[in-house]
Amino acid sequence: MLATVLHGPRDIRCEQVAEPKILRPTDAVIRLAATCICGSDLWPYRGLNETAGPQAMGHEYCGIVEQVGGAVKTVRPGQFVVGSFCLSDNTCPHCRFGFQSSCEQREFMTGAQAPVARVPLADGTLVATAELPPADLIPSLLATSDVLGTGWDAADAARVQPGSTVVVVGDGAVGLMGVLAASQMGAARIIAMSRHKKRQELALEYGATDIVSERGEEGIARIRQLTQNVGADSVLECVGTKESMDQALACARPGSMIGYVGVPHGVTFDGQQLFFSQRGLMGGPAPVRRFLPHLMDLVLQRKINPGKVFDLELPLADVAEGYRAMDERRAVKVLLRL
Ligand SMILES: [Zn+2]
Repeated sequence: MLATVLHGPRDIRCEQVAEPKILRPTDAVIRLAATCICGSDLWPYRGLNETAGPQAMGHEYCGIVEQVGGAVKTVRPGQFVVGSFCLSDNTCPHCRFGFQSSCEQREFMTGAQAPVARVPLADGTLVATAELPPADLIPSLLATSDVLGTGWDAADAARVQPGSTVVVVGDGAVGLMGVLAASQMGAARIIAMSRHKKRQELALEYGATDIVSERGEEGIARIRQLTQNVGADSVLECVGTKESMDQALACARPGSMIGYVGVPHGVTFDGQQLFFSQRGLMGGPAPVRRFLPHLMDLVLQRKINPGKVFDLELPLADVAEGYRAMDERRAVKVLLRL
């Protein structure tokens, strides 16, 4: 089959690879309905993560189960399933505490930018729908696998409550999903920080009440002005740079929580500053599995439309153009048709 392989910085290819098969009794093999490119795929693409040789790419997936290993009990061939980018058994103490992304058996999904993929720990990872979903819901179901689940986690970790004032730092796909999540959780005011027209419009559509296009000191001053000098009850940090984390900390009020889901690159904290500022931080790879049943339900009932975050669709063969479009910020998020 043709699948996506990263060979080195900015060298992404759609090339012939062996079709995956069951390797362990807890595996499933699924035929994907569609796949996509994640903002986090850009880190290795840009050469900012070390890669040891060619790397199979892709960790967002949904589709139909083709085969299961002998120990798999909860899903069967023919079912439509969605899974998290974090593979988990869903039974260990961390899973049962709701942190499936810290599962004792945790693995990260790879090889999903392909027509067929192997999903380890299938029982704990995959959630099946009652029936085959209509085709127009595939982009939104695919979004629950990572981008929506991660935005949701940012809002959950930031403890968004009905009536909250929320600041979302970052207007990438995850930030936009954070806006959607905060809106679903009943936030009264959602301030999206963005300076791109197209992304601002999508943020407003997903429930943002205010847009702040300033950054740095000016951005902080604007948030202070909008919150009567108090700061936000909850802040979602959806980028992962030093600038975005500084912005998030400065926009948060004492006693608030910052949910941070952008993988930190070059972010450091000063212990005393953090102590006296009285802001809480909760972040990490999102425990998407905790939220999946609820998010899939919201999509299937057409209460949310996270699939709108895909603003470019390409065939898998053009995956290299998809990476370029996201790298150059010409696209928010790219859906790959199989
Ligand atoms: Zn576990």
